[in-house]
Order: sequence, then C-alpha cells, then structure tokens
Amino acid sequence: MAVLEIIKVGDELLRQKSEPVKSVTKKLSKLINDMIDTMYSADGVGLAAPQIGVLERIIVIDAGDGPLALINPTIVEAEGELIDVEGCLSVPGTTGYVKRAAVITVVAMDEKGKQKKLEAEGFLARILQHEIDHLEGILFVDKVIEEEPEEKESD
Ligand code: ZN
Repeated sequence: MAVLEIIKVGDELLRQKSEPVKSVTKKLSKLINDMIDTMYSADGVGLAAPQIGVLERIIVIDAGDGPLALINPTIVEAEGELIDVEGCLSVPGTTGYVKRAAVITVVAMDEKGKQKKLEAEGFLARILQHEIDHLEGILFVDKVIEEEPEEKESD
C-alpha cells in the first residue's frame, strides 16, 4: 500500500493520451491498490492513472459503494444530459458546472482481467465520464460551461 503524489494542472502528463493496458500483472494489481489508497487519502471519488503520472488506461472510483477499478474503459452508449458541479484532485480549488450524459454504458476489464459491462447513471456516470476524459488528456475545466458562483461582495 502506498499513497502516490497526485500531479496538478500545468503538468504535461495530464494532457497526454494514455495507452491501453495489454495484460493483467502483479505490477498492475499493485498500481491499482496504490491508486485506491491515493484516492481515499485525498478524499476523492475517482482517480485516473495519468493523475499519478502513469499514462495507462486505468481508473478507480468510489461513488459510495466501495472501490471499483476499471481497465481500458470505453463508453459504448450514452444517453441524456445532466449539468452538475465537478471538481478534480488535479485542479485544486476549482469547481464548475459540466454537461455530461445522464446514463452511460461502459465496457472495461476488471482487476482480474475479466471483461465487464456496466450501466451507470447520475453521480456514478459523471465520475466515470470525468475519469475516462483523463485518459484522453481532457480535464473538466475544458468543459466547464459556468464557474460555480462565488459569494459576491457587494460593490
Ligand atoms: Zn479529475
């Protein structure tokens, strides 16, 4: 178990495309466990491998039902639209409204190398789309349609 350093916006690694994982190895299991530790230690609900400087298509999430690791995740179906507030461990101190699909279907490999299909909606669908964007070098700030209103001082 290890908590890794989360890289921040401005680091070029966050802007690169990640490579597909070819096989499940011991090293990969360790990386996934470290990513889960890192996510919890940062109070996050999701973490993508590029955020710890690893350009491989791996994400971990916890939408409240325990940790879930997905390898080579791909969105195969997306429906509807939902606008809600997002933030990112790599963009500290910033939140904003982002439009996402409301319901998605994702195919991925689990940490044992088994292919799985998962349907998600609401918060879970939002986290998945956010983390899968990281694998393409996309940050939520690229998609913000409106900054979360700050409390305004009277002028
Ligand atoms: Zn993020």
